[in-house]
Amino acid sequence: MKIAKLSDIHGIINKIAPPGLAEPWDNSGLQLGDPSADVSRIMVALDATPAVVDSAIASACQLLVTHHPLIFKPQKTISAATPLGRLIHAAIRGGLAIISSHTSYDIADGGLNDLLAERLGLSGCAPLQVTSRQELAKLVVFVPEGHLDLVRTALFPHAEQLGAYSGCSFAAGGEGTFTPLAGAAPFIGSVGTPERVEERRLELLVSRPNLPRAVKALLAAHPYEEPAFDIYPLLNEGASLGLGRIGRLAHPAPLADFAALVAERLHAPGLRYVGDPAAEVSKVALCSGSGASLLREALRAGAECLVTGDVKYHDAREAEDLGIALIDAGHFPSEHIMVAGVAGRLREMLAGAGYTGCEVFECRVEREPFRYCRPE
Ligand SMILES: [Zn+2]
Repeated sequence: MKIAKLSDIHGIINKIAPPGLAEPWDNSGLQLGDPSADVSRIMVALDATPAVVDSAIASACQLLVTHHPLIFKPQKTISAATPLGRLIHAAIRGGLAIISSHTSYDIADGGLNDLLAERLGLSGCAPLQVTSRQELAKLVVFVPEGHLDLVRTALFPHAEQLGAYSGCSFAAGGEGTFTPLAGAAPFIGSVGTPERVEERRLELLVSRPNLPRAVKALLAAHPYEEPAFDIYPLLNEGASLGLGRIGRLAHPAPLADFAALVAERLHAPGLRYVGDPAAEVSKVALCSGSGASLLREALRAGAECLVTGDVKYHDAREAEDLGIALIDAGHFPSEHIMVAGVAGRLREMLAGAGYTGCEVFECRVEREPFRYCRPE
């Protein structure tokens, strides 16, 4: 059975939530832990609260994956006399590492905002506020005849899709030349003899953050001692990534009905909204957690409604003035869906990487911190 190290799991989480996407003020990534430690039990939660950390340790987990970072501000001391210090001490004592994916996962393709859009029945989604455009490169490698499929297959997992097409590459034939020098151990030919070899020029599109992994796969699969490859930066625009999403409902609905659907789908204990209950909603913007600052962005993008959490009084007044509906579904309900989402992706990717002995659990002790009381 293949044993996963914390660094292996961190690598998998980085694929789900690429660290390069994180907002500059964020502290996503490894919060604490030993990258060389074995990990066979993982718990996923929204927050590393004391109850969650206790639950993870009691469940014999070696890793807790949370959305919100445990450590957000630089600390001058890790004293067990502070709430954060106590948590860090407890986690280290219990052999528990913590990784948080926060804004990387908010923004990631297939991340939290895509989960939220799917949960609310939106389709044709695009980022509400673009924070980055994927930078692309062309990876070109010269492969001897007969080894093309092997190298191409090794590179495909790291290559970009073209729209709805995966497995995109191009190969053309040609002649490669080389003379192995003293000290070389050539796959073809011998030292001191000029060689002419039938080769294929294989080209694939790779996103720049994926280049190191693609080159590593290329070097592992290529038969030559010194594979010849080139990396060209491209001016083509890659996919845009960003905060929130905007999409359309399959069936336009009155705002009151849509608000009720949001509450039901997110298991929200209560929900507030601003706008005419009878107004029809079909184009919807959303931002998990705290996204009322995207109100004008949502309006500019043509949304009739913004779904988010942490809405303040003046946000509500601004929505009234702008004539856009605003649904406050709550920070916790709009983000707690990440627990099942991240756990599912982790299980899939761990199985795909052959870590069959690694179990992933969804934390069951987290609760919405707000309680709601209604007058009789
Ligand atoms: Zn949040």
